[in-house]
Amino acid sequence: MKKRQAISDYIESLLKAEILNRFPLCGKFEVTEKPFTNHHINNDSSISEYYNLIRICNLCHDDITEHKADSKRTRKVKQVKKDLFRNLIGSASYEVLLLAYQHDITSTLPCLASTLLKLNLVSVKQENPFKVGLAYHPTITDYAISSRGKKLVTDLSLK
Ligand SMILES: [Zn+2]
Repeated sequence: MKKRQAISDYIESLLKAEILNRFPLCGKFEVTEKPFTNHHINNDSSISEYYNLIRICNLCHDDITEHKADSKRTRKVKQVKKDLFRNLIGSASYEVLLLAYQHDITSTLPCLASTLLKLNLVSVKQENPFKVGLAYHPTITDYAISSRGKKLVTDLSLK
């Protein structure tokens, strides 16, 4: 059996932020007395990457764990994760990721790639700064998709 990988604080904070205390599939709210738990979407706890995790209500977690082989349930969870991801990063950044996936490299304003960079879904390929006086302005930058970015697009069937 593969070793369970710990979930980083950064990823945990994103998982909490994206659901806003409510699991969209059943609509239940997370309360302090009964905190939600993090579910490994592909049932492989050795991959604790953002794209493989979703914070879900405990009843749904038990149900999904009990019906691991049910592809319909897994598809539903993936659809929810896909929507959460798009809401979390914003639809413009979502398109940037898909363009990077399609072409391996894409160019965009740094503000549309900052969350993608923090999640290691893309990396800076080429900065195109310009200078006004002494000030250095990062402008349209080239970003290459990372292996994590590719995994996210294919695992969540974003394309
Ligand atoms: Zn539930």
